[in-house]
Amino acid sequence: MSTTPKFRIAICGGGVGGLTLAVALSRYPDIVVDVYEAAQSFYEVGAGFGIWPRAFKVLRNFGPDFERQLLQRCGSEYTEKYVPAIKFRKSDQPVGIDLFYLMTKGNQLRIHRADFHGILLSHLPPSCTTHNAKRLKSYTQPFNGRSRNSPITLTFGDGSTATCDVLIGADGIRSAVRSCMMRELAEGMHPNEKQSVLSCINPVWSGATAYRTLISAEKLRTRCPNHSVFRGGITQYMGKDAVRLSLNHDIHCAEADALQFFLVYTISRGKYINFAGFTLQPDLVDTAYEADARIPRRSFQGKANHEWVGELTAEQFVEPFKDFEEDAKVLLECVDRGTLWAVHTVKTLPSTNFGRVALLGDAAHGMLPFQGAGAGLSIEDAYLLATVLGHKSTTLAMVPRALAIYDKLRRPFSSDVAMRSRLCGQLYTFQKAVPLHEFGNTITKNSEWAWLTELDDALEEAIKLVEDSSINIR
Ligand SMILES: Cc1cc2nc3c(=O)[nH]c(=O)nc-3n(C[C@H](O)[C@H](O)[C@H](O)COP(=O)(O)OP(=O)(O)OC[C@H]3O[C@@H](n4cnc5c(N)ncnc54)[C@H](O)[C@@H]3O)c2cc1C
Repeated sequence: MSTTPKFRIAICGGGVGGLTLAVALSRYPDIVVDVYEAAQSFYEVGAGFGIWPRAFKVLRNFGPDFERQLLQRCGSEYTEKYVPAIKFRKSDQPVGIDLFYLMTKGNQLRIHRADFHGILLSHLPPSCTTHNAKRLKSYTQPFNGRSRNSPITLTFGDGSTATCDVLIGADGIRSAVRSCMMRELAEGMHPNEKQSVLSCINPVWSGATAYRTLISAEKLRTRCPNHSVFRGGITQYMGKDAVRLSLNHDIHCAEADALQFFLVYTISRGKYINFAGFTLQPDLVDTAYEADARIPRRSFQGKANHEWVGELTAEQFVEPFKDFEEDAKVLLECVDRGTLWAVHTVKTLPSTNFGRVALLGDAAHGMLPFQGAGAGLSIEDAYLLATVLGHKSTTLAMVPRALAIYDKLRRPFSSDVAMRSRLCGQLYTFQKAVPLHEFGNTITKNSEWAWLTELDDALEEAIKLVEDSSINIR
């Protein structure tokens, strides 16, 4: 680097949001970046995820080479036209029926997580260094007096330390950065307020459990060459006790203790079928998750034997969906094994920034996955953060203001999406009684922000606030 860096940013967590931030910061060669990742490698978590048009348009800013690689890995072109994105089926009968096709303006792209990480890693600039097997334990930041701009100290699980000027916690749902930040925020507060802030440290169980696996497309093709999953798009099978239709086609509330549905789509250019199934237990929302002792635990986020993630045999995996229609059964017969995830969420935080530290992605707003939006939001957070931090008006002394601008623009937006995701879960499992003709419309209205809106307005507002420091942002 020829110029003296304006500051050094440490990104804690090299997942979707952390690596996107590192790439987004590459436009600012006067910023030095270190990514600290707890896992031994960046490729550990294998599953697919969908990228809605809003997030795709953000990724397009990384240039034509990035876009070409992304589309190639997704195995599809991008279109601005209206296309069918998700087919919702009633599947708790021998022959299922189509309930509704969700149409989106612009197609959702679907990718294997490892492929996405691979593209991001190949676009990291020389000003960025990655460090694996570095699990952050805590940080300390100086605040007052002459030490106000002194480095932040990071302490890792292996006893080593590092320093930085700015720390971004992109360390997922169980964020160590969030834990330290909430303690910092709570310091000196009235006991009641303090308790409320400290209650945001630990995520809470949502009552939802996810069943995740990849099915070999070849295996399914051998059994059922014309299976509807090969026609593209997402199919969502809603099952046993989840859907009750009366004669006049009104949907009645589900009465079951546990509600199930699963969705499938192809990834890796048709090599695999991504399977994400869910059971929901509404009466267990916000309770402590109790892992089933019979299910072996699996490592997750660099932690061996993580209590939230279990290894399932094929038999255990298909159990909640075993009475589904034939079309679904064929898919289930192709499952070799899978994982069980207790889906946790993060309470709405009082702030996602404090001093020169900020949170992004699941660390800031881990939510229910029923809008398929969490990764996209991490991408948006990362891009907006890079924009405010990289701006030439953001000197080290101005970093707290830049991070406060990020918080002001992103926190209400993410909270709104979290609420919409919860509503989607209720609609998909028919905890809300909705007339059939309104079912599709309600889902569309609740989700269309992901393809009808763009991040650009927030970016414009962010730049205005960074450039004019006389504007009060709180
Ligand atoms: C079943 C399911 C399906 C989903 N489908 C979709 C979808 O289709 N579309 C979508 O947009 N979203 C989807 N999501 C949500 C999405 O997966 C997450 O929102 C997204 O991965 C969050 O990105 P992140 O960068 O914040 O966190 P992560 O991707 O979880 O990355 C966090 C990183 O931090 C590392 N880390 C953790 N602790 C530490 C530490 N102390 N020190 C250093 N590193 C640490 C971890 O190892 C990890 O690499 C789904 C989620 C689930 C559960």
